[in-house]
Amino acid sequence: MFIDVAKIKIASGKGGDGKVSFHREKYVASGGPDGGDGGRGGSVIFQVDDNLSTLLDFRYKKKYVAANGENGMAKRMKGKDGANLVIRVPRGTIIRDRKTGQVIQDLSSDEPFIVAKGGNGGWGNTHFATPTRQTPRFAKPGQPGVEMEITLELKLLADVGLVGFPNVGKSTLLSVVSAARPKIANYHFTTLIPNLGVVRVGEEQSFVMADIPGIIEGAAEGAGLGHDFLRHIDRCRLLLHLVDAAGSEGRDPLEDVKTINTELAGYSEFLASRPQIIVANKTDLLGDAREPVEALRKYAEEHGFGFLELSAATGQGIKELIHKTWEELQELPPVFTYEPEFVQTEEIVTERDITVEKVEDYYVVGGAWIEKIMGSVNTDDYESRLYMDRMLKNAGVYERLEAMGVQEGDPVVIGDLEFEYVH
Ligand code: GDP
Ligand code: MG
Repeated sequence: MFIDVAKIKIASGKGGDGKVSFHREKYVASGGPDGGDGGRGGSVIFQVDDNLSTLLDFRYKKKYVAANGENGMAKRMKGKDGANLVIRVPRGTIIRDRKTGQVIQDLSSDEPFIVAKGGNGGWGNTHFATPTRQTPRFAKPGQPGVEMEITLELKLLADVGLVGFPNVGKSTLLSVVSAARPKIANYHFTTLIPNLGVVRVGEEQSFVMADIPGIIEGAAEGAGLGHDFLRHIDRCRLLLHLVDAAGSEGRDPLEDVKTINTELAGYSEFLASRPQIIVANKTDLLGDAREPVEALRKYAEEHGFGFLELSAATGQGIKELIHKTWEELQELPPVFTYEPEFVQTEEIVTERDITVEKVEDYYVVGGAWIEKIMGSVNTDDYESRLYMDRMLKNAGVYERLEAMGVQEGDPVVIGDLEFEYVH
């Protein structure tokens, strides 16, 4: 089965917590802080793999989680970094943020791409020693990982896309011009997986051709398979529009071509405006009946399309097809790639989203940033409380409390901590 869209969840690892620890040694009265840093959380990384041609693997497994970093240890020992999680996808997979639909990355190149970065490890208490604070009894917690809901969408990267009704000879053509071995059979919808083939033109020259499952009538309105498959030719540079010129299944070749082009236009203007070569196939079955071929040629001329005659079965016209296709490609822009629109903001971990509310007589301070700060504070420790105090002040928490009319002695709740307000 061919799967070309998948919705998955990914999560990068949390950073390990910094350690609070003090150097201990026989006969040494009080050692300095020696708490190590937490390890970095693993990232979720995407990588193109040309052995894959569908997103089938993502059908059953929906959640992908990278490892957490380990906590820091005594003796300044750093916690181990969490392992990255590398997810392999077919070339041409577009990653989008599910909520906004924005493109995070178009995986067209071999460059690995980090989608969810692992959280940084927290600093051990070693980092917080100062001349006046020689025994810091606090360390920083690791930063959380990033959780994301994303959509993967496969849009093949091919220079040339084959379109046309089922059974017109698309798979046969691909097998003749490339080393690809698509299934060829005399019944409809044999191609359920797009096949890619590299067509060699010369020693150094080649192009990629994609055999896409037959478009069926009404496909553009979502009537059947076709709609899903049209997505794949979205970014082909050139379309080879195959038609059974002999009408061997009883249809009129010219009507076939018109129907397919209506379908393409119904799917997208962009697709309908792709350069096209009409390829009249199965000419070996024509005999003397040349009218259908001439009608197709006239149609092509009228619409500014290229035109070729061919027999994929006998090989007649194949050389010309490769040659003409290559020539056309020289005039066309490179394969279209999507620019990233989605900016992974740091706000998930650093934005100071602080809430200050009055609940009955209490002033309650909360929010993600507060939780993070409070997580790194040891409230039993005076130095640590001073540190917290400074952070809250710098973040404007006291200003906001005053603006809300807090009075000396009013109860304030911050995280697990409750105290009376002092100016
Ligand atoms: P697709 O559905 O468009 O991929 O078509 P296939 O390549 O699977 O071909 C459908 C049938 O048409 C097969 O039985 C092929 O052998 C046959 N066929 C393909 N090209 C030609 C041709 O040029 N001449 C003749 N006589 N038969 C062909
Ligand atoms: Mg086929």
